[in-house]
Amino acid sequence: MPQAEPINQNGLSVCPNCGAGGLADIYEVRGIPVHSTLNLPTAEAAVNYPRGDLALAFCATCGFLCNRLFDPTVHEYCPQCEESQAFSPTFNAFARGLAQRWVQRYGVRNKTIVEIGCGKADFLMLICEAGDNRGIGIDPSARPDRIPPEHRGRIRLIRELYGPQHACLQADVLLCRHTLEHIAQTRDFLAGIRRTIGARRDTLVLFELPDVARVLREGAFWDIYYEHCSYFSAGSLARLFRSTGFEVVELERDYADQYLLLAAYPADGPTRPRLPLEDDLAQIADLARGARERFPRMIGHWRGALAELRAQGAQPVVWGALSKGVSFLTTLGLGADQVPYVVDINPHRQGSYMAGTGQRIINPQGLRGVPRPAIVAMNPIYCDEIRRQLRSVGVEARVLPVVA
Ligand SMILES: [Zn+2]
Repeated sequence: MPQAEPINQNGLSVCPNCGAGGLADIYEVRGIPVHSTLNLPTAEAAVNYPRGDLALAFCATCGFLCNRLFDPTVHEYCPQCEESQAFSPTFNAFARGLAQRWVQRYGVRNKTIVEIGCGKADFLMLICEAGDNRGIGIDPSARPDRIPPEHRGRIRLIRELYGPQHACLQADVLLCRHTLEHIAQTRDFLAGIRRTIGARRDTLVLFELPDVARVLREGAFWDIYYEHCSYFSAGSLARLFRSTGFEVVELERDYADQYLLLAAYPADGPTRPRLPLEDDLAQIADLARGARERFPRMIGHWRGALAELRAQGAQPVVWGALSKGVSFLTTLGLGADQVPYVVDINPHRQGSYMAGTGQRIINPQGLRGVPRPAIVAMNPIYCDEIRRQLRSVGVEARVLPVVA
């Protein structure tokens, strides 16, 4: 279980995003699983899974936040990682729409797309299909066996971590979704990408990642976890790109303001800010300051809410067994005795166990016969989808979005 101890004074003191000193701690959680999407075969393996500490620190110079205590050597990204969200109709509709939008807006047709951190290549398949493109996906957790036959001709997967050895791939489009937040040395990473592009000026670079502004505003402690060592706002993301030699042409929010989308092209050197969303340093500093109280308040709120549900005879259920669910349960310190059920619609997740707290992950049908289930939806955007799925399996339950 996480312990409340004073923050360790070791760890990073210089911002990996801009190089400035003076990182200020705003939140900490200790003893959390270092991985939350790895399929774990037994409750014992899940409870005993290696743990690490997190101290979320803010850089007032560039607006970036990071886990100052992050240790990149602990990770084992591999084919047994099950991070796919492609079993959710809501997420799929978003991903399909985004692929089409990017194809139309930037003329991504008949191109070679290299995706850094492609996961199970769900999005790479969508964008290749939408624009008749060829895709090369690089990811240690890639699963070529899960590529349907109709896509095999145009998708190639490389089961490796992205690095300088991939410079030879000659991408027309470099795509990187939900990966940068897993990288600690963000400036080195982006500078490396810029070097691999070299003299070309027409390589389109597309990034997508969570927006920390919403996390800070909501005190969304379930969105802070070990794999995510780097947390960006629109402005800190654009500043990173501009300082490493990119012209940022588009910066926007999507998915109920949960995600940031960025489009950029290589430039000859650092570029100057020119998009409205970039000017957020004062706002993000304000949010970071406020989050010092907001995170503990939200933790207290959910401890109380779950205790009350149990006192009323309801059975708390967490819906969503990926990182948010793991973070929610480990931060609150709630094992199977207090939150017995965790549901996920991804069949590749079902039957394995929640890292840290050890609940077995079940399918929605598994809730049949459970008296008075009260479901905490780990992302409010899925509430309607969850209600539909419950109806389809004949389960009556309250659905509570994980916000205040
Ligand atoms: Zn910084």
